[in-house]
Amino acid sequence: MKILAVGMNYAQHNTELGHKEKNEEPVLFLKPDSSILRNGSPFFLPDFSQNIHYEAEVVVRICRLGRHIAPKFAHRYYDAVTVGIDFTARDLQQRLREKGLPWLLSKGFDASAALGDFIPLADLGNDVQNIDFHLDIDGKTVQHGHTSDMLFKVDEIISYVSKFMTLKIGDLLYTGTPAGVGPVVVNQHLQGYIGDKNVLDFYVR
Ligand code: MG
Repeated sequence: MKILAVGMNYAQHNTELGHKEKNEEPVLFLKPDSSILRNGSPFFLPDFSQNIHYEAEVVVRICRLGRHIAPKFAHRYYDAVTVGIDFTARDLQQRLREKGLPWLLSKGFDASAALGDFIPLADLGNDVQNIDFHLDIDGKTVQHGHTSDMLFKVDEIISYVSKFMTLKIGDLLYTGTPAGVGPVVVNQHLQGYIGDKNVLDFYVR
């Protein structure tokens, strides 16, 4: 399976990171399957970065094989959502960006794709663009997003990426983070919510 991720998909987050240009197409990257962190396992701070950021994102689970998917049919290709964290080594990412190099290692390291428990989309009214989500750290909300604020909607992203690569059952799509990203430090307690349902819960060690 593969983990697709979209960057810069919420306007306020782009502003906080200093991105002024408007993207004409979704900004996509991959995280390897070895980056998945789930079942409440702790996230261990890696030693190659002094600035690991959390990015809380809605994650969509692909449930059907497809390529060249038209936007109007894209909703048939996912069936469940959760909250995940796209952990990013911001210092390494900055160095790579300055050189015009790929982000890969700054976002693809082990445990960089924290993943919550999936909720069937049918339980959420079958509208992936009407999902309220938030991330609490030590009981305080640090990011709060609504999927209606995405610059590129899930169906557009799926249609776009499927022109280039086949989507497979079990693939994941991290759909971008809203404003409020920041560094994690040891012993923090991260909890992700869809609505008021806690779907993601783990500690930084
Ligand atoms: Mg992200």
